[in-house]
Amino acid sequence: MNWYSIRMRAAAGGPHEKGGRHISGAEDLVPETEIEDRLFYFWQKASNHEKGKWDFLQITVEKIDERVQEVSLLPVKLFYPATTVDARKLATELLGRNGITQRQINSAFQLLENPPQDIRGAWVVALDSNRVVRENVRATKFGWNQTTYQQLREMLTCAGLINTRLSEALALASKVNACPGIVAELCWSDNPEYTTGYVASSRLGYCRLPNFKPIGKGGGRVFWIEKEEQIESVLHWLREVPCLIGGVPILQKEE
Ligand code: AMP
Repeated sequence: MNWYSIRMRAAAGGPHEKGGRHISGAEDLVPETEIEDRLFYFWQKASNHEKGKWDFLQITVEKIDERVQEVSLLPVKLFYPATTVDARKLATELLGRNGITQRQINSAFQLLENPPQDIRGAWVVALDSNRVVRENVRATKFGWNQTTYQQLREMLTCAGLINTRLSEALALASKVNACPGIVAELCWSDNPEYTTGYVASSRLGYCRLPNFKPIGKGGGRVFWIEKEEQIESVLHWLREVPCLIGGVPILQKEE
């Protein structure tokens, strides 16, 4: 079967590279029969964003020549913090299990809360040097094994969680955290009204945290890598290696 990578980016005030403000982005990896559907969905996604109206929209479709790898879906763990303070405490405790210090975690919260510039990709932070090694890095070329996706949707529906955001973020987190060298990820949505976020790692799984950011705030992602010297191989994995997310979905409620 042939696979196609689809990427979308939308901005207001011109293209991103000419100073436009990021509105929306998305990516998928699909067979030829799904392309038309995804083009329509990406167009809708860009055109109905809380961040406003785009005047620049780019959708790129590329045939994949490399072998597509299968990556395991991360287990989903549902936490229920009642406040932003509780959510951040919990995130700090979870990320601490991956060896990330409280200071490093607070710096990441600061980055997401007060981004130094408009951003449309992740900050890659090295834990050995404590430096932001790259910014605006987007993970691309990932999509779903269709059986896994159907099972996941059923599971989420049963849990009252039918939510495209969750499945899109879960696919991204599964690819990102399967990368050798990546220790963990932190995410808040761009959508000002959507305050749920997550922390994820291959050890922790995908830990969903409601009330992670105050209402009205923007979003962002941080990918922590172990060593600064791993950056080129990490970027190669994130941007170039085509992956389908497969395996049996797992959903756990954590008290
Ligand atoms: P979203 O979850 O789409 O609201 O995105 C929240 C933030 O995560 C965006 O502002 C970007 O900074 C970042 N982001 C979104 N998609 C990606 C991606 N594919 N790779 C890396 N970072 C991303």
